[in-house]
Amino acid sequence: MLKATFHSVMKRIAIKKQWAASLNQPIAPRILKKKMEKRIEKARFWEASRAGGGYYSVTHGSNAFIVKLTKRSCSCKSWDLSGLPCSHAIDVMREERLNPMTFTHDCYSTEYLRITYSHTLKLINVEDTWEKGLGEVSNKSPCERTLKYKFNLNKIKTP
Ligand SMILES: [Zn+2]
Repeated sequence: MLKATFHSVMKRIAIKKQWAASLNQPIAPRILKKKMEKRIEKARFWEASRAGGGYYSVTHGSNAFIVKLTKRSCSCKSWDLSGLPCSHAIDVMREERLNPMTFTHDCYSTEYLRITYSHTLKLINVEDTWEKGLGEVSNKSPCERTLKYKFNLNKIKTP
């Protein structure tokens, strides 16, 4: 079971490493497709107005939000919490002719994806080749050891 899991994880990391190396876009594809494209689509419903001092008011009907591009912040707090510009901020970027992809947090970049999968698992020999430890080996299951430790089964009195 452990060997199968180890080999599965090892293969997955190798595949992801190759995949990450082949990417030629600045943002991880899943983030781009699932999050940013939806937010860009929603941004067309908002109307941004420059308020001065780097602040923008973004409105739609009776809803209004305040965006500050230099702080990468919006009063809806979505951008502040996720690191991805919300639809309000994207509308401001569209007004200012800025690329929303340059305002995403670095953790969503393909560079970070490559760093994540840059390592490899250390291979393990078969169990027969392992060195024997010096400690005492218990033949009890981990459950039995835990029960004895927690409740001290020997001291429980029977009525
Ligand atoms: Zn917002």
